[in-house]
Amino acid sequence: MIPRRQFIRLVTGATAGLVVGPGCSKSRWPGPNAFNGRILIVGAGSAGLYAGYLLQAYGIDFEILEAQARHGGRLLKLEGFATTPLDLGAAWLHGRHNLAADLVRKFQFPLREDTREPTFWFQGQKTPSLPQSPYIFEGTNLPDISFLEFSQQKGLLPDYQWIVEAIAAEYGASAGNISVYQNAVEGEKWTAGEEDFVFQTTYFDFIHQYIAIPVLSRIRYNTPITQIDYSGPGVVLKDANSKTYTGDVVLITIPISLLKAGAIEFYPPLPPDKVQAFSKIGMDPCIKFFLKFQNRFFDPYLMGGAVCGNYFDATWGREAAEAVLMGMVMGNQALFLQDMGSAQAMTEALLQELDSIYGGQASSSFVAAHFQNWTSEPYIRGGYSFGTVQMGNARALAASSVDNKVFFAGEAMNRNGHHQTVHGAMETAWQALLEILR
Ligand SMILES: Cc1cc2nc3c(=O)[nH]c(=O)nc-3n(C[C@H](O)[C@H](O)[C@H](O)COP(=O)(O)OP(=O)(O)OC[C@H]3O[C@@H](n4cnc5c(N)ncnc54)[C@H](O)[C@@H]3O)c2cc1C
Repeated sequence: MIPRRQFIRLVTGATAGLVVGPGCSKSRWPGPNAFNGRILIVGAGSAGLYAGYLLQAYGIDFEILEAQARHGGRLLKLEGFATTPLDLGAAWLHGRHNLAADLVRKFQFPLREDTREPTFWFQGQKTPSLPQSPYIFEGTNLPDISFLEFSQQKGLLPDYQWIVEAIAAEYGASAGNISVYQNAVEGEKWTAGEEDFVFQTTYFDFIHQYIAIPVLSRIRYNTPITQIDYSGPGVVLKDANSKTYTGDVVLITIPISLLKAGAIEFYPPLPPDKVQAFSKIGMDPCIKFFLKFQNRFFDPYLMGGAVCGNYFDATWGREAAEAVLMGMVMGNQALFLQDMGSAQAMTEALLQELDSIYGGQASSSFVAAHFQNWTSEPYIRGGYSFGTVQMGNARALAASSVDNKVFFAGEAMNRNGHHQTVHGAMETAWQALLEILR
């Protein structure tokens, strides 16, 4: 997700006592001898890797089965495009009170606080402030309707349409798909802190170095799991080549988009209310891109484009900074770009928008483009989860275990308001392991 400093207004003390993770609740961890079985983990993203990291530390038998030829999931690094590596997926550490931040401190990994505030592109003008605040999506007693409908009711449309879309994009959604109520309720659970940090290298490098490397020998790559049979005493998993893997329990960490699509067949079938819960959790299309220019003509952070809602200086805060602009496009805007069919057509649409904002400076100094379409990644299929209208307690139902053998983790299963994040995915791994080991 992208910086949420300006959107999150924590209700002081509302969840101040919430304690998650080994850094702050060691006494709750059952200990090394609590479980003698074998745990199969499906997916080597932040949740799967962190589960492995914990199990390794406690000497518990496990194996990670990963569909792709790489680990990291929605953490991925782009090298060679600029002199500094760039994150194609998660880039910001959100807050200092969470599992990832604890590890960053432990390993003294270099970070820089991101203090940027947005400049708005509004009614054909760049402006540091808007006549009316569009940040109407926080608080209590909000209706369970979409951002779009609520904006309409509050008189923000049509003038603030692209600003509202940019705010919804921050939460990974189109304004017509995300619920004001669900988003606010989940936002109030956020306890990670309001600061955002950028890495001197990449978020991928950090997770790779400290969490993935210790478990590399336990990851089986190119192993897309297609079936899980939990009818017997343990679990039997089958991959796309019909090879089987046996364990006592399985921890599934694949994106919610794939669970919704039924990418894994369960035997016996999962309870209908659980399947319905998957379908209620939102996950919209997502494209992240980088445009390299000869000159840094752009703002550190610009909100409100019709083609791309949120543009950032991609090398802000880095040494040896080059002029690279990063954009995050979500929901219908991502579909619109994708439908153009080629990287060249997408680049032209973006340069056209940037030329209109920056007086023609974009196309005249353009060097190269790189697109990461997360929707077309077969084992990801979108950006990150968000609360839809009528979602209710779907996350809790989706995350609940089945028969004490089938467990779920991953960002979409986070019930502490930390979904959409790397640290939130890690938290769910910790919570699921606590349940398994007990
Ligand atoms: C563009 C973008 C920007 C983001 N920015 C940030 C940010 O700045 N800060 C932040 O904290 N978070 C950010 N996020 C969110 C963050 O990346 C995710 O919340 C987190 O990485 C999710 O981890 P996960 O383990 O739940 O899932 P994933 O990382 O998606 O891992 C799931 C794994 O399961 C594998 N898999 C799928 N199907 C199968 C199968 N059938 N069999 C075996 N393996 C399978 C996948 O290949 C993948 O490796 C961003 C996400 C995106 C897309």
